[in-house]
Amino acid sequence: MQRYNPQRTVTSILCCKCGVLIEPNPGNVCGECFTEELGHSGEIPAMLVLHHCRNCERYHIPPKKWVYCEPESLDLLKLCMQRIKVKDAKITDGSFIWTESHSRRLQVRVLVDRDTETATVRQEATVEYVLQNLQCKDCERLMAEKTWCAIVQIRQRAEGRRTLLYLEQLILTQNAHRGATDFKMRRNGMDFYFSDKNAANRFVAFIECTLPVKKGRTEKLVSEDTHTGERFSKASYVLDIPPISKEDLICLPKSIAHQLGTSRFLLCLRVRKNIHLVDCETPRKVEVPGLQYWKTPFVALLSKSRLCSFVVRDIEDEWEAAVTKTVYVVPEENVDSQEIATRTSIPLCVGDCVLGYSLTHLNTQNDALEEMREDRVPDVVLVKKKPLGKKQDRRLWRLKRLQNGDEAGCQDTEMFMEEIEEDKELRSSVGIVPNEEVLELWERGEEVASSIPVSELMERFSSTMNIDG
Ligand SMILES: [Zn+2]
Ligand SMILES: [Zn+2]
Repeated sequence: MQRYNPQRTVTSILCCKCGVLIEPNPGNVCGECFTEELGHSGEIPAMLVLHHCRNCERYHIPPKKWVYCEPESLDLLKLCMQRIKVKDAKITDGSFIWTESHSRRLQVRVLVDRDTETATVRQEATVEYVLQNLQCKDCERLMAEKTWCAIVQIRQRAEGRRTLLYLEQLILTQNAHRGATDFKMRRNGMDFYFSDKNAANRFVAFIECTLPVKKGRTEKLVSEDTHTGERFSKASYVLDIPPISKEDLICLPKSIAHQLGTSRFLLCLRVRKNIHLVDCETPRKVEVPGLQYWKTPFVALLSKSRLCSFVVRDIEDEWEAAVTKTVYVVPEENVDSQEIATRTSIPLCVGDCVLGYSLTHLNTQNDALEEMREDRVPDVVLVKKKPLGKKQDRRLWRLKRLQNGDEAGCQDTEMFMEEIEEDKELRSSVGIVPNEEVLELWERGEEVASSIPVSELMERFSSTMNIDG
């Protein structure tokens, strides 16, 4: 079985012909397919590889079939002979040559007829088959079922899942998932499998120390031996983390806003052990302790991906010492539209570009928002001044992941990487893998516009080079 192994350094690839997992080689084909390819040259191969599943004792017929054959049976002989693919020739007969069964080798003597221009040439040859172990998909599935006794499912049930990405980084950099036998990325979370319940408990404790977690646990009895009294049960943990990520907009229920002494609209600064929020009207920052959060949970009204750009048209200075001002903005994409008034404590000037959430025509089901009277809901909530367009040449690093996949176009990952580039403190707890190019740039002393300075990436280089494949 292909086990998930965090320490693993050799990357496996799929055979480009039949798709079994192999270690990389120049042709990127498995032994079985390689010897088959040889046959196209017109020669009878001296040796062929047969994949054999030791568990169910079936033989592999590429690409996807597995069949059982008795030793030295006619079926096995047929299977062996079918594997010999020789151009312009016909295998007419074959018979087994006795081999010791422990040798994991089969020998078949074959007769080959080859038509030349003048006559048919008959040729005799011996082909040796090397049996290689390969677990078939059925057995792999069966083993996976049997080997784990605890599963930890982490979920962030939200539109934006950057807090989940952050948690993944903490798990990776602190190797908190040691002892996990398998890992699967899910649509809104991650599953970790353990064959040892203590390791699973340790992992759960780590997550609970890191983020506010709602924990559910179930135990299912799988089998019980009536003679020995031995029981085998599987434990499932479901860990929900808050459906909130950095810079998401939150509309608080009246009671919680009252408790915290804030207005109803807040922005998430970060989700750690506590949830850090900032009032959208005043610069007041508050923390919601993790335990308290799950007693009266709230969700994000709008995820960061919904941020829009506005241009400041006018500022009303109510009085000199005012912290919160009324600001008039227009959408950047439609500067001729009517000015929208909103309250903010962000220091702004007329002409500034600012990011914010538009709340008009909002199509979201949110109890706290429903609870607010129509006339109290602002049309726009401003978040921050738009970062100046200092474009980086290209990104010189990638994010280390638990599972490397196709991330092109994944908005959450892209936004999370931008957050890492903006936040030096965050960078200390995430897995940054610099590109090879960094080394060359450093040696040439070349200046490049990069959000993470080349010198900082160089420091990372020496520490990640040895562990990242
Ligand atoms: Zn293959
Ligand atoms: Zn099998």
